Amino acid sequence: MTHLTVYYNQYYQTLSKMTDIFFNSPNWQKELASAVGDVATLYELLDLPLPSQYHAPKKFPLRVPHAFIAKMKKGDPNDPLLLQVLPDIAETLPVAGYTTDPLDENNHNPIKGLIHKYQSRALITVTGACAVHCRYCFRQHFDYGANLPNGEDVRQICDYISNDKNINEVLLSGGDPLNINNRRFNEWILSLSNIHHIKTIRIHTRMPAILPSRIDDELLAILADCPKNIVMVLHINHANEIDDVLAKKCQQLKNSGVVLLNQSVLLKGVNDDVETLCQLSHRLFDIGVIPYYLHILDKVAGSAHFDLPIERAIEIYWQLLEKLSGYLVPKLVQEIAGEPYKVPIDVYQFQRCT
Ligand SMILES: *Cc1c(COP(=O)(O)O)cnc(C)c1O
Ligand code: SF4
Repeated sequence: MTHLTVYYNQYYQTLSKMTDIFFNSPNWQKELASAVGDVATLYELLDLPLPSQYHAPKKFPLRVPHAFIAKMKKGDPNDPLLLQVLPDIAETLPVAGYTTDPLDENNHNPIKGLIHKYQSRALITVTGACAVHCRYCFRQHFDYGANLPNGEDVRQICDYISNDKNINEVLLSGGDPLNINNRRFNEWILSLSNIHHIKTIRIHTRMPAILPSRIDDELLAILADCPKNIVMVLHINHANEIDDVLAKKCQQLKNSGVVLLNQSVLLKGVNDDVETLCQLSHRLFDIGVIPYYLHILDKVAGSAHFDLPIERAIEIYWQLLEKLSGYLVPKLVQEIAGEPYKVPIDVYQFQRCT
């Protein structure tokens, strides 16, 4: 072979390997790879003029897939979906009381990748990656690098859970546990399914709302085949995140035997009024999802501009109680470091005033 032929063959092999990866990787992974990561592109897609100054952090940068951008209203700089993902210059201002580890998770980390704070539940940080970067995320400063479980850790985690019979439920979290591929996800499901005293595997994910194509047939089959109860806790903050595509995915998940719940975070400018939250509960129920938690924002550094006074949160909550069927009212809770559960907010500390 001439030198040129060798070169050509190598080139051809590399090229065909690349095309192979491209054509054989599932759609959701391609969509994930093409998530928008720069503010200028996002503004352009939304027909918004680029401000002369904007914030483009290097750590925890903008990240949002096209499928989620498609649900935002064009031309509206205050769109509630946009506000959840757009870096705000206010993030850079230190605010007293807002810290990098508000939940003290680093102290409940018996094994790399495992957080065991509550007696009967253990949480696994399967991956640090997410399809989206929510600006209020309480784990945005978490040291995933030091906490991602690899082969040996996975065994240790399963041993730890096997040895503690108080644990009856395992949460797959992250990051987003559906950010890993089906093969790796299935390995977790199979390993956990082998532990006799585990009754339920719970998946905390924002994927269905952010990148619905992630709920593919292979994943649905993995979930349907699992002998344990499967609970999926979605994370949706606003009714506009719910569309027909998501509705169909939820139906498929239910057909696979998955129980669907939702958790939201109460966020200033996004969902901090009674009408918005009522609509959210109703839309969730329309697609077969029960509202589970409404979280008071965790005081994580960079998120203070989403926070609202507890008096206001409680005022909204009283109104929700008045307007919604009991099962449509999520539990208003707050994580307080060191408490053995998510703490229900005492709504009686501020009586109804209307
Ligand atoms: C939220 C959370 C759980 C689950 O708590 P539930 O009240 O059962 O939803 C478990 N472990 C950790 C570390 C958590 O943060
Ligand atoms: S999807 Fe969840 S873990 Fe990921 S950035 Fe958003 S809030 Fe944080």
